[in-house]
Amino acid sequence: MILTINPATGKTLRTYTQHSDQMILDALAHAHTAQLAWRETPLAERVVLLNRLAEMLREKSEQYARLMSEEMGKTIRSARAEIEKCAWACEVYATHATSWLAEETVAADGRKHRIVIEPLGVILAVMPWNFPFWQVIRFLVPALLTGNGALLKHASNVTGSALGIQKIINEAGFPAGLFATILATHQQVEQIIAHPLCQGVSLTGSTEAGKTIAATAGKYLKKVVLELGGSDPLIVLADADVATAAKATVAGRFRNNGQSCIAAKRVIVQQEVQAAYMHALLAEVEKLVMGDPLAEETDIGPLVNEQAAEKMEQFVADAFEKGAVVQTGGKRQGAYFFPTVLTNVTAEMAVLTEEVFGPVIPVIVAQTENEVVALANNTRFGLGASVWSQDLAHGERVARKLEAGAVFVNGITKSDPRMPFGGIKESGLGRELSRWGLREFANIKTINVY
Ligand code: NDP
Repeated sequence: MILTINPATGKTLRTYTQHSDQMILDALAHAHTAQLAWRETPLAERVVLLNRLAEMLREKSEQYARLMSEEMGKTIRSARAEIEKCAWACEVYATHATSWLAEETVAADGRKHRIVIEPLGVILAVMPWNFPFWQVIRFLVPALLTGNGALLKHASNVTGSALGIQKIINEAGFPAGLFATILATHQQVEQIIAHPLCQGVSLTGSTEAGKTIAATAGKYLKKVVLELGGSDPLIVLADADVATAAKATVAGRFRNNGQSCIAAKRVIVQQEVQAAYMHALLAEVEKLVMGDPLAEETDIGPLVNEQAAEKMEQFVADAFEKGAVVQTGGKRQGAYFFPTVLTNVTAEMAVLTEEVFGPVIPVIVAQTENEVVALANNTRFGLGASVWSQDLAHGERVARKLEAGAVFVNGITKSDPRMPFGGIKESGLGRELSRWGLREFANIKTINVY
């Protein structure tokens, strides 16, 4: 039995029954049959369906935004923006489909050498609750466009969203069974990965879940893409515009109530500007409105559940015991955790060594630029960093020294369907989005004519 609970009220939203092994095997067989026909469908027809999906997402935006907000607590404004981003991603892929999937000709030793991009088959997506629609669409749109089929095992606390995604894909006119949501246990996930009809697995979630899924994929030799946790630095260099950097810190750290893989989870500020930056940062944090996620004025809603807020309390307590100063916040109320800023943080505190999935900003002060870079790279993660400097060339020079899948100079980290997205180190394997994402679940095949 699966329960979904509204974290803002603690009330049960709905209950669902887990799928049986047979139902899951049927879904896999059905997706396989549908995929064999789908891979022969002309690209132009796939593009029409993507555009229709974009339209339908916009038509139903309010309904799905509300559903996400109720299931996991994101603010209604950010939920609407998430649906809009999903629609936009469909359009970006529809626009670039022909060029991004174009065959290539290579001059080699024969008459003709072609590189063609073919689908792999049915791919399993294991997805998290933090962006219930976006994380799935980010995987699904390129996977389907390439000609694959897909099964979705979503985080159980967003089962309503998972079924909503299946409904809207069907309503947009994709072939029946090509994509299906399955309500599967972890054990059933392993059975799917092991099955010969499953050709790969894409997981977004914690590093721990990623290691388990990667081990299973390795055991059965299946292609795997992993988008995992982060503890990304936001760097305020001595020549930064501190007021803008402070605003960006708040936007980058507290979006989605602090629960984003690419959030700015560690701030590193240079000594020269630390006083001015801290002053501006605390002023920005005080402006945040915490409350009912469905209220238009709310900036920060609850965390995904009460245990997540308790975990934030533990992080702050650990830091406090080891000498950190709580500048603001640090308290919990049910599933809500007050936006928190910590100073005097040191390397052994869990707020720096773990992925902190909630609204907590540890601020570290560095003297030299070399120290900034060393602190930024002193992590087992490497997803997306942010560097602030009024000298763009300087910002870019620092960006090139950072160990991360993406660096933003004078911008907060974000995903964009036109750009590849993914991490290094324990933040993941492979890339999603852009034309790079189209090639992950593809047979990049050569045809050589002599
Ligand atoms: P998980 O990473 O555990 O879950 C993500 C997805 O993976 C869910 O669908 C989950 O299913 C599934 N899953 C987890 N373990 C397995 C397994 N062994 N076999 C098959 N499927 C599995 O995230 P949690 O929700 O438990 O969050 C825990 C922590 O993970 C957070 O506090 C945060 O630090 C991090 N996290 C990071 C995210 C990111 O984007 N970087 C996103 C979400 C979480 P089920 O729900 O059924 O367990």
